[in-house]
Amino acid sequence: MKRWEIKKVLEREIESLPQGVTIPEAGTSENYITGTWRTFKPVIDFEKCTQCLFCFIFCPDSSIEVDNGKVVGVDLKHCKGCGICAAECPRNAISMIEEREEG
Ligand code: SF4
Ligand code: SF4
Repeated sequence: MKRWEIKKVLEREIESLPQGVTIPEAGTSENYITGTWRTFKPVIDFEKCTQCLFCFIFCPDSSIEVDNGKVVGVDLKHCKGCGICAAECPRNAISMIEEREEG
């Protein structure tokens, strides 16, 4: 894999750098189905869940679904499978399951 040397990048003129992607409008993330990037998905065991909402607070993609102040599921269209919710759950109520497995 080709590695970037940050020192060399900083020495170059900004115009010589390849153009990246820009998102001209804010608030468009809902339109992008980032769940397709995922290899592991979170599965919540509601028998263990105490509704502390830690997973909701820590999820970087706002993918923990909450209704009436209670966790009700995961928005799998946008969850990227990072596993932060499972790592932060104090009850170990979230398991990260490989996409091809049932769960
Ligand atoms: S962090 Fe765990 S216990 Fe807390 S609401 Fe989420 S799944 Fe339930
Ligand atoms: S795996 Fe990551 S993106 Fe998906 S619900 Fe958990 S914290 Fe959010």
